[in-house]
Amino acid sequence: MTPADATTVSADLFSRAQQVIPSGVNSPVRAFGSVGGTPPFLTSAQGALLHDADGRDYVDLVGSWGPMILGHAHEPVVEAVRDAAGRGLSFGAPQSGEVALAEEVVSRIAPVEQLRLVNSGTEATMSALRVARAATDRDVVVKFAGCYHGHVDALLAEAGSGVATFAMPGSAGVTAATARDTVVLPYGDRAAVSALFAARGGEIAAVITEAAPANMGVVPPREEDGIGFNRFLAETAHASGALLISDEVLTGFRASREGYYGVDGEGWTPDLMTFGKVIGGGLPVGAFGGRKDLMGLLAPAGPVYQAGTLSGNPLATAAGLATFAELDETAYATLASTSRALQQMVADALTTAGVPHVIQNAGTLFSVFFREQPVTGYDDAKMQDTEAFTRFFHAMLDAGVYLPPSAFEAWFVSTAHTPEVLDRIADALPGAAKAAASA
Ligand SMILES: *Cc1c(COP(=O)(O)O)cnc(C)c1O
Repeated sequence: MTPADATTVSADLFSRAQQVIPSGVNSPVRAFGSVGGTPPFLTSAQGALLHDADGRDYVDLVGSWGPMILGHAHEPVVEAVRDAAGRGLSFGAPQSGEVALAEEVVSRIAPVEQLRLVNSGTEATMSALRVARAATDRDVVVKFAGCYHGHVDALLAEAGSGVATFAMPGSAGVTAATARDTVVLPYGDRAAVSALFAARGGEIAAVITEAAPANMGVVPPREEDGIGFNRFLAETAHASGALLISDEVLTGFRASREGYYGVDGEGWTPDLMTFGKVIGGGLPVGAFGGRKDLMGLLAPAGPVYQAGTLSGNPLATAAGLATFAELDETAYATLASTSRALQQMVADALTTAGVPHVIQNAGTLFSVFFREQPVTGYDDAKMQDTEAFTRFFHAMLDAGVYLPPSAFEAWFVSTAHTPEVLDRIADALPGAAKAAASA
């Protein structure tokens, strides 16, 4: 059985948590709401393995939802943080790590001339949006259904990630005025984008998109007549004086060394970009950056206010820098081959058991949809056999493999996912595929 057994330490912690924390969790998808059961409470993690409070361990395919690209408790990263901690936990004043981290991002990502560090991806997209509105003196923002940009009021409509997991149309508590200024279009629908710009181009401050959507499962942007969707968005937005914000919070420094822009950066330039997850190496960091003239609008030089007591925190920049130090071409080649091998194993097991599935990827990122046809947008993503996924998920968990507890999330590998670790996943797959097949 699952750790739902009420006698486990995790079950006891979960029931205590539910008394004092809403639904017992500090981020919705952790509650296992869509798959049921009790989430294991974790005590430690090392490399590709998680350890829970009941003495069980799991191969981790969540990776803290992206940051743990080198695996958990990776010694050079831990050492850098320990070192930084000994020099002071927070200064609220400039420190060299901020400069080095910004230089690292600027050197990797051509469209980013300047960067500001914040504490989460949510803060990054919220701030980028503010800059875009200030730069254009317009209010309307365009987003795509199934794309998740954090829990920013203006960006929660038809969002992916937890909003998709729990089948919510958006969020209560967002004002009607905010909702009015957000237009949601189907992902990849060029005709809808063109029609909107033809009708309201002069009102639109920015289009925001995930560089490759990965919060409704992985849905890579598609080419039409040799022009990728991101390039189409840049050209359409720019023709109306609007900006393109490319959200690489998830894909940044994961899809490739230069993020998804490194895979798909031909012929277009986003005006602003947002980052998170990998950039903090497991500590709370987000960042937004782009053209110098736009970033120059930020206070204190410019009129756009944005600030943070803990922004550019020395422990966080130390973790980010130590992570970047190992993310060279070799690391990405390893991630790519691990990702490919895992995709093949999953496809083989599901095919053998006769489970309809489609695996989609974007750079080293991938996800598994429990349906036959390719997924091009959010409506497709919702049309999958989530019950088959739930059976698959629990069988994998029972066999010691920790998948994202949602059919709408990417699977995350790390450089610590060695062939031995993949073998453990391979052992778990046939039984889980059989469980998925047994309606
Ligand atoms: C995770 C994510 C965010 C939000 O980042 P948080 O650090 O969770 O606030 C924003 N955009 C994308 C694409 C993400 O995947």
